[in-house]
Amino acid sequence: MEFEKKIAVLGSTGSIGTQTLEIAREYKGIKIEAMSAHSNIDLIEKQAREFKPKTVCLTDEGKAKDLKIKLADTDIKVVQGKEGLIETATADSADTVVTAVVGISGLEPTIEAIKAKKNIALANKETLVTGGHIVMDLAKENGVAILPVDSEHSAIFQSLQGCKDRREVKRILLTASGGPFFGKKREELVDIKPEDALKHPNWNMGAKVTIDSSTLVNKGLEVMEAKWLFGTDNIKVLVHRQSVVHSMVEFVDNGVIAQLGAPDMRLPIQYALTYPNRLPMKNNELDFTKYPSLTFDEPDTDTFYALKLAYDALKDGGIKPTVFNSADEAAVELFMQGKISYLGISDAIAKAMSEIKNIENPTISDIWETDKLAREIVYRFEKESLI
Ligand code: NDP
Ligand code: MG
Repeated sequence: MEFEKKIAVLGSTGSIGTQTLEIAREYKGIKIEAMSAHSNIDLIEKQAREFKPKTVCLTDEGKAKDLKIKLADTDIKVVQGKEGLIETATADSADTVVTAVVGISGLEPTIEAIKAKKNIALANKETLVTGGHIVMDLAKENGVAILPVDSEHSAIFQSLQGCKDRREVKRILLTASGGPFFGKKREELVDIKPEDALKHPNWNMGAKVTIDSSTLVNKGLEVMEAKWLFGTDNIKVLVHRQSVVHSMVEFVDNGVIAQLGAPDMRLPIQYALTYPNRLPMKNNELDFTKYPSLTFDEPDTDTFYALKLAYDALKDGGIKPTVFNSADEAAVELFMQGKISYLGISDAIAKAMSEIKNIENPTISDIWETDKLAREIVYRFEKESLI
């Protein structure tokens, strides 16, 4: 099939970024116009030489200077820092931006890309969690599509194809693998180390999202992401250990449509790029005989109480989802550095959520101020927990 798409990839060196490039390697119709990473200079140099984008960005400014020297024999423009990331996200020749950077740093480039009328293949869930009210309105205003890359949201989006009236949707059933500590109780998680939490049973992802999957923070972020993408807060999380049913939609007549597949992020990434078409995919067909039973459980929100905090943030709305997200970003960083305990992650989020007063309809500057405040509370939490 003839297929052409010109894309910018924000976070090309990460788990989603490299799989996006794998798809572009397979389909020559997908052209990489611009790409960014934070500091992985060796990989992005290799990627730039292979895909020949017009612009490459390193947000780490020192490394960007070195990259400029390395790529001096090419006509690729090297840009840097936050401005460079925005230049990458708004690259003239790209029609779609894959947002695969990690954390709240995805928010501003995504907003600028929408203003520049780019469609968004959205992996960076933090964008919708923190700025969903701004992003969704802007997308409508600018007539651009936000196409989900997150596997659950892609599954919901696929299950909704053919649904002509969204009022027929009763609720969303969002599946969760349950992570490496499924079935454990709080007291069994006291001594969890980063290397334990980094062992995800089904998916190979970046470090932050892997830790978030183990605490169910990731599922909490996904509930908030789903609210903005699909316009409902009737979202139920179901633990499904096999990660084969990627999520489901239940309709008013109790009919349920699900999307299934082997756990492989290439499908949702590719679908976001080829929608409304589908292109063939090599390898990784779903072999049903390998999954003689598919199981579904209620999540244990006493042990994984970050999920309960996420539902509180969803209900409160306003700035609370930003508090939840930014506190988690800071807490995961501290946990990875061995400075707070595993259970400290959800305790730190709870502390930030109880200390920060809500703001209805926050502006971008409210979001950044709250981001800073939530991080400060978590850093204080670390100091206090040392005493
Ligand atoms: P990775 O950690 O693997 O990659 C992150 C990418 O962002 C890298 O290219 C990294 O560059 C870059 N980056 C890191 N910090 C910054 C920063 N401060 N500013 C700009 N760029 C930065 O993450 P993933 O690919 O796993 O996840 C990316 C996003 O996709 C996240 O929002 C995640 O929640 C979401 N997602 C991921 C899934 C997965 O399977 N991995 C599934 C569903 C959603 P460098 O390499 O130089 O550090
Ligand atoms: Mg997901």
